[in-house]
Amino acid sequence: MPRTVTILGATGSVGTSTLDLIERNRDAYDVLALTANTDADGLAQAAKRVGAKRAVVADERQLETLKANLVGTGIEAAAGEDEVVEAARMGADWTMAAIVGCAGLRPVMAALQGGKTVALANKESLVSAGTIMTQAARASGATLLPVDSEHNAIFQCFDPAQADRVGRIILTASGGPFRTWGREQMASVTPEQAVAHPNWSMGAKISVDSATLMNKGLELIEAFHLFPLEAEAFDVVVHPQSVIHSLVEYVDGSVLAQLGSPDMRIPIAYALGWPERIETPCQRLNLVEIANLSFEAPDTDRFPALALAREALIAGGAKPAILNAANEIAVAAFLDNRIAFLDIATIVRETMDALDPAPPSDLDGVFEVDKAARGEAARIAREYSR
Ligand code: NAD
Ligand code: MG
Repeated sequence: MPRTVTILGATGSVGTSTLDLIERNRDAYDVLALTANTDADGLAQAAKRVGAKRAVVADERQLETLKANLVGTGIEAAAGEDEVVEAARMGADWTMAAIVGCAGLRPVMAALQGGKTVALANKESLVSAGTIMTQAARASGATLLPVDSEHNAIFQCFDPAQADRVGRIILTASGGPFRTWGREQMASVTPEQAVAHPNWSMGAKISVDSATLMNKGLELIEAFHLFPLEAEAFDVVVHPQSVIHSLVEYVDGSVLAQLGSPDMRIPIAYALGWPERIETPCQRLNLVEIANLSFEAPDTDRFPALALAREALIAGGAKPAILNAANEIAVAAFLDNRIAFLDIATIVRETMDALDPAPPSDLDGVFEVDKAARGEAARIAREYSR
């Protein structure tokens, strides 16, 4: 029996890599729904290639284009944010959550409530609403599989039966395109430079997050919600070659690591096949060619975003949701050429300092915090606007 799958964010970087794996093994999967934000053409093409039952575009203005593209195919077309959530609720055996940002929260929640398997790339939902999401997964019996390469690596090395025998989890960071740059140099960075990641090909938002090291900060918080260790047990090491994707240290001093080419299809395949491994066409590691693996401590003076995220993790409550919302606003303003690269962390810092709401207890509470933080961050961004 083919497994039913749904891909939320099917037109993005992770979504496209997921579709690539599914297309290589069409008989094993029955695609229920694919969703996208605005790209109705790309969505329709993907839906036709994999024979999806339903294609959903979040932007309602794209419904006519989507319908026109799907005439005569038998694929249902729908539009609107609520329809994206409904697609997540269709009950696929396996759902890839690959929407970027807080827009993924409601669809991820809907998928988790279905009690099936959710492969999670949308780290922002764990940053903003980690406790609420993991509680929902426990309540429904859903299986949450990490797709982010670091968390997927940890998942592969972490023995749940020995959870209390794990002393430390070390996330690796490439260091991004400005790893060796001084603050003065970073002051005039352009969006094009920031999205040109040295090792990974990814969507624009996460590429900027990798350049500020906010991505690693978000990943610290993500890891905290996925693995049962104290916040202090999560470390970050800069590893420019992106060969080791993360490490788990046990109490006997043994350290287990997962290695592989920097290709998201490897962690996605692990989540897609889980608990079995499936084949991928990904480049095999040639250790002799790589020759050297190097490691550095992260520099939080040059990359303050990492320290801000750790601060939000330790503070808990509403702080991670504020951090995430402010970062989304600041990254969008930077990509729009309205603020400078270094202003991103400054805006997040000032937003975190300005707001101190009560910890949200449900998703609506998270959205309230998120909205307030977006408003405040947008106001601060206007002050820095050039
Ligand atoms: P992307 O920008 O390439 O794609 C985002 C997808 O989400 C697209 O399909 C887009 O249509 C959809 N989307 C965007 N806004 C939406 C909205 N408001 N409503 C509904 N759909 C919307 O992003 P990506 O790089 O694929 O990243 C997706 C998620 O996976 C992010 O949370 C990112 O942090 C995480 N992630 C990505 C990578 C990677 O290699 N790209 C690695 C690890 C984790
Ligand atoms: Mg990652």
